[in-house]
Amino acid sequence: MNIIVLMKSTFDTEEKIIISDGHIDDSEADYIINPYDEYAIEEAILLGDEHGGEVTVVTVGSEEREKELRTALAMGVDKAVLIDNEEVEATDQFTTATILAAYLKDQEFDIILGGNVAVDGGTGQVGPRVAELLNIPQVTTITNLRVDGTKATVVRDVEGDEETVEVSFPLLVTAQQGLNEPRYPSLPGVMKAKKKPLETLDLDDLDLEEEEVEAKTKTVEIFLPPQKQAGKILEGEMHEQVQELITLLKSEKKVI
Ligand SMILES: Cc1cc2nc3c(=O)[nH]c(=O)nc-3n(C[C@H](O)[C@H](O)[C@H](O)COP(=O)(O)OP(=O)(O)OC[C@H]3O[C@@H](n4cnc5c(N)ncnc54)[C@H](O)[C@@H]3O)c2cc1C
Repeated sequence: MNIIVLMKSTFDTEEKIIISDGHIDDSEADYIINPYDEYAIEEAILLGDEHGGEVTVVTVGSEEREKELRTALAMGVDKAVLIDNEEVEATDQFTTATILAAYLKDQEFDIILGGNVAVDGGTGQVGPRVAELLNIPQVTTITNLRVDGTKATVVRDVEGDEETVEVSFPLLVTAQQGLNEPRYPSLPGVMKAKKKPLETLDLDDLDLEEEEVEAKTKTVEIFLPPQKQAGKILEGEMHEQVQELITLLKSEKKVI
């Protein structure tokens, strides 16, 4: 089987968001593999182990993203591809999906796995857009995947309920929490990863012009949520607290 994983690097989930000059300042930020993409990587490795074949992880981003690709290689992925998009000034989900589809259309694959959503950008658009551009079936938010010959049986999470879908290859799925338990890279895995192939491509290699991938959307404003005020703790006997609460609801909040 030829298995491809779409991997995005995201801010470390512990990272504090700093906005400066209307942009998110990521100069000091640590990046990690998008947590949903860890499920996609784990599932791809398990599929490769069970059915044979090669697992390739692909990311669109700057050259610094090599670090997270090496982590994926250390987990057990066979090879990595970095598509450098630094020359594109304005990027959005259209940009990323168009670049990925331009690469994938010339690759042989049975299944493409991505994350359900990126924990930073968070639109959940890239996977479905790629499937549409490649004109292949897609199943999103999957929690179980069984492969039988040229078809797969997939369980997807539908807002807490489950839906079981049968689908033929080639196909694209996006991973939901609960699909598996992603492994940590082992020390031998880290050593092996240094020697595994990591190919870097740019728009020229994909016969793409910058104008063809420029963002279709424009971010008008980015702002942090307003800081929450500290809550008020009422004290005293219960009847005193009730009396104070009523007074506050009348005088301060004016809701009664
Ligand atoms: C204001 C703003 C400025 C931005 N500037 C830049 C910039 O200068 N350079 C830049 O690279 N990005 C930039 N981005 C980010 C970029 O446009 C989006 O993050 C990206 O298109 C993915 O969209 P998403 O985060 O909504 O991913 P989602 O659609 O939520 O991601 C779902 C899944 O799609 C796949 N996927 C998503 N992104 C990638 C990727 N890059 N490579 C491989 N697979 C992927 C993963 O499997 C992921 O789990 C910017 C975003 C904003 C809002």
